[in-house]
Amino acid sequence: MLHTRTMRLKKYPPSAMRNLQSINGSIGRMAIILLGPPGAGKGTQARKLGARYNYPRISTGDMLREAVRKETVLGKKARHYMEAGELVPDGLVDAIVKARVKRKDCVRGFILDGYPRTIHQAEFLKRIIDSKELKILAIGIRVRNDILLDRLARRWTCPRCAKIFSGVSGPSSGRSRCDECDSLLVHRKDDSASIVEERLQVYHEATEPLIQYYQSRGFYVEVDGERPVDKIYRAMTGLLGRKSDRHSTVA
Ligand code: ADP
Repeated sequence: MLHTRTMRLKKYPPSAMRNLQSINGSIGRMAIILLGPPGAGKGTQARKLGARYNYPRISTGDMLREAVRKETVLGKKARHYMEAGELVPDGLVDAIVKARVKRKDCVRGFILDGYPRTIHQAEFLKRIIDSKELKILAIGIRVRNDILLDRLARRWTCPRCAKIFSGVSGPSSGRSRCDECDSLLVHRKDDSASIVEERLQVYHEATEPLIQYYQSRGFYVEVDGERPVDKIYRAMTGLLGRKSDRHSTVA
C-alpha cells in the first residue's frame, strides 16, 4: 500500500506515483539518483540515505578527487577539468561508474551522488540499470543560486573521508578536524567564487535537462533543499518508504 506521506504528493504524474508505489511497497532493488546543483546537499543526503537503507554511496566527485590525489592515469586526465569547474569527459566518468557498480555491494542497488550529469551519462546509466534490473528514482534537490553561492563559500570538506562541514562547524568556528577521521578539513579549490560560477553554469546547461529527462519517464520527484538537513532527509525518506518495508524484500 502507498505510504501516506507519499499520497500527499499529488503534483506528481501517475507514472511517478506508480514508481513510488512500488518503492514504498516491495522496494526490491533500486538505483537512487540525487540530482541538484553544487552545494545542494547531495553528498550529505546521500550519506544519510546510504546509512539508512544500507546502500553504497557512489560519488563520482569523490572518486575523481581520489584519483587526482593519487595521481593515477585517470586523475591526471581529470585534474584540469575539475580545477576549471568543467565536466570531466563522459567516457572517463562512465568507465569509473561501470567499474564501481560491478562490485558486490551494488547488487541490491546504490545511491548516485553527482552522476549522471549529462544526457549521455543518463543513457549510459540506463543500460547499466536495465542490465541489473534495478528500479530507478531521481530525487531533485531544489536550491536557489544565491543560497548555493553562500553555502559553497562556507563549505569545508574532509580530504580523507569526504565528509562535508558547513561554516558553522568548520574551522571558522574553531573546529578544523573531521569528526569522523580527524583529518584536517580543507576548502576545496573548486569552491572558490570564480570556479563556483562556472560550475553553476555547467549545471544549468548540461545537468538541469536531466530533470525533464527523468520527469518525462516518470522517474522524478523533487524536494525543497533550502530547509534544514534533517527536514530534507525526512522528506526524502517519506518518498522512499521505511527501511523495514525495503528490507522485507531482501533475501
Ligand atoms: P559538486 O556536486 O559539489 O559540484 P562533485 O564533487 O560532485 O561536486 O564534483 C566535482 C567535480 O568533479 C565536478 O565539477 C566535475 O569536474 C567532476 N565530476 C564529478 N562528477 C562528474 C560527472 N558525472 N561528469 C563529469 N564530471 C564530473
